[in-house]
Amino acid sequence: MNEATDTVHDVVIVGSGVAGLSAAVYAARADLEPIVLEGPEPGGQLTLTTDVENFLGFPEGVGGMELIQRGKEQAESFGAEFVHGTVEEATLEDRPFELGLSNGDTLRTTALIVASGASARWVGAENEDELMGYGVSTCATCDGAFHRGDDVLVIGGGDSAMEEALFLTKFADSVTIVHRRDELRASEVMAQRAHDHEKIEIRWNTELLEIHGSQDDGVTGATLVSHPDGYPTEKLESGHEVDREEVDVGGIFYGVGHVPNTDFLEDTPVELADSGHLETLEGMTTATAVEGVFGAGDVMDPDYRQAITSAGTGSMAALDAEEWLDEQALESDATPAPEIEAND
Ligand code: NAP
Repeated sequence: MNEATDTVHDVVIVGSGVAGLSAAVYAARADLEPIVLEGPEPGGQLTLTTDVENFLGFPEGVGGMELIQRGKEQAESFGAEFVHGTVEEATLEDRPFELGLSNGDTLRTTALIVASGASARWVGAENEDELMGYGVSTCATCDGAFHRGDDVLVIGGGDSAMEEALFLTKFADSVTIVHRRDELRASEVMAQRAHDHEKIEIRWNTELLEIHGSQDDGVTGATLVSHPDGYPTEKLESGHEVDREEVDVGGIFYGVGHVPNTDFLEDTPVELADSGHLETLEGMTTATAVEGVFGAGDVMDPDYRQAITSAGTGSMAALDAEEWLDEQALESDATPAPEIEAND
């Protein structure tokens, strides 16, 4: 799309994950002709997951990718327009807001829905920058099949780590979950499934310190550290003795949570929490401190982070934006026309 800079859209939605899509369906049905920006991870986190078992209305479960594709189709059928582009700069001091995109275009909009989601967190182990994509991965569903017959590590103790580990059992000979303390964060059902699987072992109070290998050979091994009180890398940094072990593995998968995608909001008047999450106003609203800017999905939700809650806040953001746009229209209709002096 080659955007003429004088076009002012009613609503631009940043993000095409489940929150952005839900906002798009509601905004498009309200005839707001939303533009939906698809960034570097189109479709968001659900495209990287296998079956979603807890989305209402799918008793047999539904594939994450399928849910997203169907949501996009639904939004397009009501008139939402999808545009590829990452927001690099947002100017939100005055309306219309201006969004500078990675492709050089500038979008102008009266209302903005931020549904830019969250991206996989990295651990900070030595060599991870070099080997990410060469045997280190944040997505088992994407890269698991490359590890047929390997012994692999999964880092983390939450639902993502359990899900990754269970998925990897289809390919790997053994899967070792490496968790930094002695209790999982994962839900009971997921923890039990991992615990019961014969190919999965859990290493408690252990962390990944260093990854061995090269871009030519891939991952060949790792250095793990452990301490009976947990958090061994912190202990190591503060001068405590920790146990070290070298292990031979062919792949390492990170399942250590996500960080919100709010870099483009850092120099704007939108308020961000210390965690980087977009702050919405108190109470049941998606409105932010900047009038006309609304937040939806994982970018504003550090707590629930479910597909169904993201869809919920997406629809709320579109309804909040619609109501606010209506108020703006009423206010401008009520503004008296400037008096024109009669010509003699
Ligand atoms: P999470 O719940 O935040 O868990 C992250 C895990 O990684 C925690 O165990 C944490 O350890 C560990 N961790 C964080 N930083 C680390 C580091 N630098 N080094 C080592 N370990 C580190 O994230 P999540 O598992 O991605 O889940 C996010 C949300 O999505 C949750 O609400 C979850 O229920 C949901 N989810 C659901 C499903 C499903 O139901 N199928 C699947 C995936 C996700 P600590 O425990 O010590 O903090």
